[in-house]
Amino acid sequence: MPKPIPMLMPIPSVATPEPQTDWHDGWWARARHCPSPNFGPRPAGVEPSLAIVHSISLPPGVYGGDEVERFFLNQLDVSAHPYFAALRDVSVSAHFFIRRDGHCIQFVSCRKRAWHAGGSAWRGRPNCNDYSVGIELEGLEGEPFDAAQYTALCELLQAVAGQGRCLEVAGHEHVSAGRKADPGAGFEWVQLIARLGWPHQCFPEAVVAPD
Ligand SMILES: [Zn+2]
Repeated sequence: MPKPIPMLMPIPSVATPEPQTDWHDGWWARARHCPSPNFGPRPAGVEPSLAIVHSISLPPGVYGGDEVERFFLNQLDVSAHPYFAALRDVSVSAHFFIRRDGHCIQFVSCRKRAWHAGGSAWRGRPNCNDYSVGIELEGLEGEPFDAAQYTALCELLQAVAGQGRCLEVAGHEHVSAGRKADPGAGFEWVQLIARLGWPHQCFPEAVVAPD
């Protein structure tokens, strides 16, 4: 009688990365998902390496409504407020929108190219939409943001970067200088940098506090 073949012990895999349970095809499980039609493919082989911080509120300075959400979904009633008339036929999006209370909404998969930066360049590299993730904070450029927004932004940036890694982070005002001014002087870069603990070279030189 042949000897039975001994059962092999399963070999633990060393190649399998930790399960990324918080991400599914570029969608973050901790955000509410509102898929926008305003996106396209990223250039082949390009991964996001930059996060761009914006501010938005519709109408400007009014918080808590659903107008920003509607704007990114091409569902804004442009007759509802005089300011909205200029937004007719404007198709834009960001990957994320963080409300005053820290609630986070995602509109576009991070694997796709959202339409938030427009004409832009970061450290000599043009077309930031190709290689960035756009994060809109509910707010008014130049005005302060709420504590819950910094907490949510840090959590989101760390999730986008991945465990133990960092991203470059800039404001729209830094990548579209002279054309855009958001998030503006009310945004506390020093607080963000301290809370993330990422190297200073991840941030615009202009916002890094002197050592
Ligand atoms: Zn912006």
